[in-house]
Amino acid sequence: MTTLVAPPLPDGAAADGGPAPPADRDRPARVTPHAVEGRLRLLARWLRYAAVSLRRGHVAGVRDAGWASLRLFTSWAGDTVWPSDRVACNLCGWRGRAFYPNIGPGWFEPHVVCPGCRCQDRHRALFTLLPRLTRFLERGARVIEVAPMRRFEALCVAQPGMDYTSFDLRRKAMHPGDITAMRYADTSADVFLCLHVLEHIPDEAAAMNEIRRVLKPGGVAVFQVPIDWDTERTRQYDAPDPSDNDHVRQYGRDFGDLIAAYGFTTKAVSVTEVLPAEAIERHGLSTEPLFFATKPPTSTGPGRE
Ligand SMILES: [Zn+2]
Repeated sequence: MTTLVAPPLPDGAAADGGPAPPADRDRPARVTPHAVEGRLRLLARWLRYAAVSLRRGHVAGVRDAGWASLRLFTSWAGDTVWPSDRVACNLCGWRGRAFYPNIGPGWFEPHVVCPGCRCQDRHRALFTLLPRLTRFLERGARVIEVAPMRRFEALCVAQPGMDYTSFDLRRKAMHPGDITAMRYADTSADVFLCLHVLEHIPDEAAAMNEIRRVLKPGGVAVFQVPIDWDTERTRQYDAPDPSDNDHVRQYGRDFGDLIAAYGFTTKAVSVTEVLPAEAIERHGLSTEPLFFATKPPTSTGPGRE
């Protein structure tokens, strides 16, 4: 059964929205902000999106790309002429008036992307929650991530003493790899990060059993998937749905129970449970829950019992 569990309240270091490592851990490293490059890359991405939308006769896509570009230029001018630190990124330290839009087929999210490191609200929330609920940032902790976001990967690599690696089937990562047949040894990982991946994997059971195999007893897998909170049960598609980003299923409110069925103790946690509203607003953190699935500490083998 999935439950909402409030972790301990953050200590003083949490007030900046960043991780609150115990005293025996190093302060977390940050990636360097490159805001000019970040804005230009965002602009290039939106122009490509506008061109594709135009070709497909998708008027809303062209309009959204135009609005996002206009917002980018006004924010850039504002932050240059009259610098502000109303919002701050906990991954790279960039400060400004507001985070930048995230756009795509059917969505326009106005304040999501950091121009300094191009992370999104969910990456900033992840970096806030991970050290509180897992061994993330601890010296010697083995962390494996599938399909990493480039700058989040760079952030993890920069952490002193943390043993981080990443893999992916097609996109760029540190190594090529298949989540349904991983190269990692049994019971070798303390933390496994799997964000916005499962909805693309036809053989969910193979992926979940592999994640359980590579985790140490007491290790934690962290999941995030798009969830339709109005739907009770997960719906499997007959084939990848191009109108839904090629997802193979639409998860419903039963997602926590689904992953618990693979032999994990599961809890869903949102940043609203560990940070005050002002800190969430200032650091632009996603309030969508992340699912923390713990392999039982008494587990004697890699597989399902
Ligand atoms: Zn940033």
